[in-house]
Amino acid sequence: MQTFPIELVENAPISANTRVLRFKKTDGSNFAFRPGEFVSLHIPDENGDILKRSYSIATLTDNPLDAQVLELVASFVENGRATKWIWQAKPGAEIAYAGPLGQLVLPEEKPGRLILMATGTGVAPYRSMLHQLRPWLEQGLEVHVLFGVRERQEAFYLDDFRATAKAHPNFHFSLCLSRQRAETKDEFSGRVTARLAALVPNMERDLVYLCGNPAMVDETYAMLKAAGFGVRSVRREKYVFSRN
Ligand SMILES: Cc1cc2nc3c(=O)[nH]c(=O)nc-3n(C[C@H](O)[C@H](O)[C@H](O)COP(=O)(O)OP(=O)(O)OC[C@H]3O[C@@H](n4cnc5c(N)ncnc54)[C@H](O)[C@@H]3O)c2cc1C
Repeated sequence: MQTFPIELVENAPISANTRVLRFKKTDGSNFAFRPGEFVSLHIPDENGDILKRSYSIATLTDNPLDAQVLELVASFVENGRATKWIWQAKPGAEIAYAGPLGQLVLPEEKPGRLILMATGTGVAPYRSMLHQLRPWLEQGLEVHVLFGVRERQEAFYLDDFRATAKAHPNFHFSLCLSRQRAETKDEFSGRVTARLAALVPNMERDLVYLCGNPAMVDETYAMLKAAGFGVRSVRREKYVFSRN
């Protein structure tokens, strides 16, 4: 697969266990992607081997076909080899990426209701969709973003989701805390799956996206299948570990 050189321009903590990385292309051209896609980063390890690791595109832009910045978020993985590079990399570092790839993109036709469910960094693709959702939100589409973390200190991009909820009464954001009590109006104590069940998913109306922890994606898909959902009404992106 063709790769493109990129330069790290910013690398900063964005929550207790997450960093945000911003890259630009070294040849000065811009990025083109569909919100919801991911890229494969080609990261050198200490032995000079190349690690290929996928990260969802989190860039929030009005023009994803001409974006100056590739924004990604990475969560800390104990003894993770790419994690080691990500936690130490300094602006100016050059690596390569392949892509964009993936099918977790917005549908061509407006669904009856859209439910975007994630654990951890699985919320990144939904952040990149926020501007493209605006026309449908203005037409009254009901959208729910369910963001699951253990504790609120692990959460990020809250301002973007809350600003969208403030601007559009039919956009609903839920921060689901599996190990903490809820303290604000949009926080819920418990797992994202419980919040989804409370929305009473309806196969005739809903299009559901699941992204992040593979166990959460499988468990939720099984729950939706039991409620009559099929592959056309559920889109999945599992953050499976790499084999190399
Ligand atoms: C389509 C796709 C999109 C992805 N998008 C993102 C993203 O936006 N942000 C992001 O942070 N990650 C994302 N991932 C996961 C990412 O590609 C890496 O797998 C992750 O960063 C760990 O890589 P590593 O080299 O640090 O760990 P490795 O060296 O590959 O693994 C080290 C050890 O940790 C275990 N391990 C690996 N990952 C995890 C984990 N998440 N939790 C617990 N144990 C783990 C492994 O089994 C291994 O034992 C995505 C994966 C896929 C397939």
